Amino acid sequence: AAFAQIEAVESDINSYVTLDKEGARKRAEEVQRLIDAGELTGPLAGVPVAVKDNMCTEGIRTTCSSKILENFKPTFTSEAVLNLEKAGAVILGKTNMDEFAMGSTTETSYYGATKNPHNTNHVPGGSSGGSCAAVAAGECSYALGSDTGGSIRQPSSFCGVVGLKPTYGTVSRYGLIAYGSSLDQIGPVAKDVTDCATILEAIASHDTKDSTSVKREDYDFTGALVDDVKGMKIGLPRDYFGEGLDPEVKAAVQRAVKVLEEKGAVVEEFDLGLVKYAIPAYYVIASAEASSNLERFDGVKYGHRAADYDGLHSMYKKTRSEGFGAEVKRRIMLGSFVLSSGYYDAYYLKALRTKALIKAEFDKAFAKYDVIIGPAAPTTAPELGKSLSDPIKMYLGDIYTISLNLAGLPGMSVPVGCDSKGLPIGMQLIGDCFKEKNIIRAGYTYE
Ligand code: GLN
Repeated sequence: AAFAQIEAVESDINSYVTLDKEGARKRAEEVQRLIDAGELTGPLAGVPVAVKDNMCTEGIRTTCSSKILENFKPTFTSEAVLNLEKAGAVILGKTNMDEFAMGSTTETSYYGATKNPHNTNHVPGGSSGGSCAAVAAGECSYALGSDTGGSIRQPSSFCGVVGLKPTYGTVSRYGLIAYGSSLDQIGPVAKDVTDCATILEAIASHDTKDSTSVKREDYDFTGALVDDVKGMKIGLPRDYFGEGLDPEVKAAVQRAVKVLEEKGAVVEEFDLGLVKYAIPAYYVIASAEASSNLERFDGVKYGHRAADYDGLHSMYKKTRSEGFGAEVKRRIMLGSFVLSSGYYDAYYLKALRTKALIKAEFDKAFAKYDVIIGPAAPTTAPELGKSLSDPIKMYLGDIYTISLNLAGLPGMSVPVGCDSKGLPIGMQLIGDCFKEKNIIRAGYTYE
């Protein structure tokens, strides 16, 4: 059924970079045998999933939507996907994304843009646009995305699905091709909060192969699927509802907050002034880490190598010039610059200090509130082709999401209706570190 739907809509949507029809069929038969034998009983047994193309999958091409990894077939599977396989998941294929997860529209993919299933003249958001569009278009039951600076929550909001970025360290990054290692987290994209909690429970684990993986006390995320927010303290940052926010998005999120208030939550406004520095701090840190992480793509170890070159340096230069797209090159140059001698203190160190201050400001807020609520993005999905020409404007669209990555906090986007053009709007629920249960509970109660 999943492949029939993919066949029907994929030429319009382009959610997938690679489909594994043969592998999926074999795997489904194997899972069916295990289910029949009573060896697989969980809720995800036999359920088809789409995986963002920056997570390594053994034997299935993993491209990061880049030319440089066009023919890269990993020899191992990422921990999060392995965890899903243990739960009986059937992988349908790998989803399209912004190249190396750099972007907010899924238009920087070497394999063509993904379209928004609600209106194919609009982008699905990014960088996990393929995963979110695939869920919205019924091309899979659920998907995995990754979120370095909003890349699960923003496209979930644009596509009208639920997407959750867990607390940093909750899901292993082993086998996730790194963008900004101190910010990257894998998370679920699903049709509702119940599915999201169920998937998170399956993928979260303590993994010694990821040095930043945390051993949590509690992995019972579905235990938070409780329809009750009586007495829950909700904070609304004034800074998330001010200038630059589309009035229709604002009204929809405010209506959704009212619903929670009517169900017994205590709502209060407060100031989160430092978030205005989140964008510059994020783009300095993420680019710095990216410039270092992407050094490994040199034509020797992985993927594409230029055909003609004259010596080693010429090979590096030609391979990387041909293999990377414009946005990736921009980030590598920016990152190399902010890390370079003489500029390190002025940019990189300053950004790290800003990151610490933002975290402290959230800590203060979470001493008072269980959940912080705002929009996931300032607008609904822009039209295709409108964002790439103005990268600064595109970066500004990440205003509400990236501070969570800087502070390591969990966040979830939940659909709260559509604008007058029929494009979905997402409400972002923000929790304190390791308090996913609060946002799951609030999201479930709202739904
Ligand atoms: N828009 C962000 C960026 O380009 C999204 C990153 C992400 O979360 N992968 O860096």
